[in-house]
Amino acid sequence: MPISQPAVIRSRRAVLPEGERPADVLIRDGRIEQVAAHGSLVVGDSDLVDLGDTALLPGLVDTHVHVNEPGRTEWEGFATATRAAAAGGVTTIIDMPLNSVPPTTTVAGLDVKRKTAEGQAWVDLGFWGGAVPGNVPDLEPLHRAGVFGFKSFLAPSGVDEFPHVEAADLEAALAEQARIGALAIIHAEDPAVLAAAPQQPGVHYRDFLASRPAGAETAAVAHLLDTARRTGARVHILHVSSAAVLPLLRRAREAGVRVTAETCPHYLTLAAEQVPDGDTAFKCCPPIRDEANRDALWQALADGEFTAVVSDHSPSTPDLKLLPEFGGSGDFAAAWGGIASLQLGLPAIWTEARRRGHTLADVVRWMSAGPAELVGLTGTKGAIAAGCDADLVAFDPDGEFAVHAGELHHRNPVTPYAGRTLSGAVRTTWLRGRAVDTGAEPFGRQLLRPADQPGGPA
Ligand SMILES: [Zn+2]
Repeated sequence: MPISQPAVIRSRRAVLPEGERPADVLIRDGRIEQVAAHGSLVVGDSDLVDLGDTALLPGLVDTHVHVNEPGRTEWEGFATATRAAAAGGVTTIIDMPLNSVPPTTTVAGLDVKRKTAEGQAWVDLGFWGGAVPGNVPDLEPLHRAGVFGFKSFLAPSGVDEFPHVEAADLEAALAEQARIGALAIIHAEDPAVLAAAPQQPGVHYRDFLASRPAGAETAAVAHLLDTARRTGARVHILHVSSAAVLPLLRRAREAGVRVTAETCPHYLTLAAEQVPDGDTAFKCCPPIRDEANRDALWQALADGEFTAVVSDHSPSTPDLKLLPEFGGSGDFAAAWGGIASLQLGLPAIWTEARRRGHTLADVVRWMSAGPAELVGLTGTKGAIAAGCDADLVAFDPDGEFAVHAGELHHRNPVTPYAGRTLSGAVRTTWLRGRAVDTGAEPFGRQLLRPADQPGGPA
């Protein structure tokens, strides 16, 4: 079958690495061959897509997605997650090592994931490994097999088959990752601080918030940075929710610790004050905090302190969320902690970013170029530049839509954005030059960690 792909995509608002400007993008064999002046490339009408004033962005790279297949496919799966990604302008996802069964803590577990994902990825897809107590001997084989790094939890993960690491486990895991040149990605909440916090079950969000205080994040990050300094490992703090950790990261960087951090659309666009009683669609760990904290996260984002804004898409079935509208109790303490947003991250962030005076170029840096750099994919993903894959998104910055959870491609109709009106509509997503049609055959590829990643294997 012939590959249908335009030779040139033209937009008056192409978001390039140097900023937004009118441009023609020439595509050949799935790659961007040239970025030229707007209107300068001459091709036949059938080979031209002229977007007019619709923006052209590089496809988003979401390095924090829990696909959950196999094992908990009823929560989400490769087909549903990658369709949602494509519809939301995300052309690359990196799958988290847990909530699937088996977890990705051995090469055998990785092989199961890869076989399961075959033929059902509408976007490109890579895998994180997991570092759990006792699997230090598995890390190098997984690293050689192409995982992008290793996730560890410093507090219980929520699933029994992916235990958290105690201090000695963390030390051993980071020492090994420093040796092999792997990237350690960390869920940083301190279990002792969590255990000492008041535990008041029920439908009131403030009680849940009090049970996961900001001090749990700062204590865990401090301990992690200490271990990173001793071992020399490169570490990345996942889903920073509390702005109080930022000064710790700054001081550690100044002291030579290799540390980066990410935050998520829900911490930047939602706030504790807005969460209705019993609406457990808003539950995640660490939790969404107050408005003042949210403003501080935006300031840090503006100051370049976050490498990436990624979804932490971590859905479950509605019954496990205990949602009242599905007959549940609305108990925040007992509900599954995870937010579904893969298809909505771009418009959610754009809606708030624009209100705060940010540009599409900022959003692209946070959600495409930054995460691509984190996982060593710069030069292939995350930019409209010659040599990169032609992963592109036609995005109407002024297109408004109301979120109906049941109309999203996510497997389950639960998201805290339900009922909101968001700005920014994804019109077309191209993966390696081909328009993605979520109703047709998928052509996503499985990605391996590039060997030339900084700190990677020789
Ligand atoms: Zn996560």
